[in-house]
Amino acid sequence: MSECLFCRIVAGEIPADEVMRTDEVVAFRDISPQAPVHVLVIPTAHFVDARAMSTSDPQLAGNLIKAATDVAAAEGLEGGYRIVFNTGDDGGQTVHHVHAHVLGGRSMKWPPG
Ligand code: 5GP
Ligand code: ZN
Repeated sequence: MSECLFCRIVAGEIPADEVMRTDEVVAFRDISPQAPVHVLVIPTAHFVDARAMSTSDPQLAGNLIKAATDVAAAEGLEGGYRIVFNTGDDGGQTVHHVHAHVLGGRSMKWPPG
């Protein structure tokens, strides 16, 4: 059994509120939403962060961004949204399986803090 939380969600060992699943990506609602819409989009393959994924499999990185925009469209975020990859310790990453945050449903602020 994997020790990675998001690999366990991919495997169905931990329940998640899924909004999309393909062979390559899974999207599910964040357990602690920071906006009215807050979905995490992850590859089914394990990469620790965006750096590792982009280096090893840039095509997957592109497909993950496409999936994130598809999720935003399916969630009705016509007015815009934010896609975030927290990357590494200084990036504030807490789960070490690459994930895109799709945030929307409110006006986003900048800088993000
Ligand atoms: P990070 O801080 O690594 O960029 O984002 C990790 C995200 O995963 C956080 O927004 C956190 O709320 C979310 N998260 C952590 N554990 C779980 C879980 O068990 N289920 C779901 N759906 N989200 C989780
Ligand atoms: Zn993993």
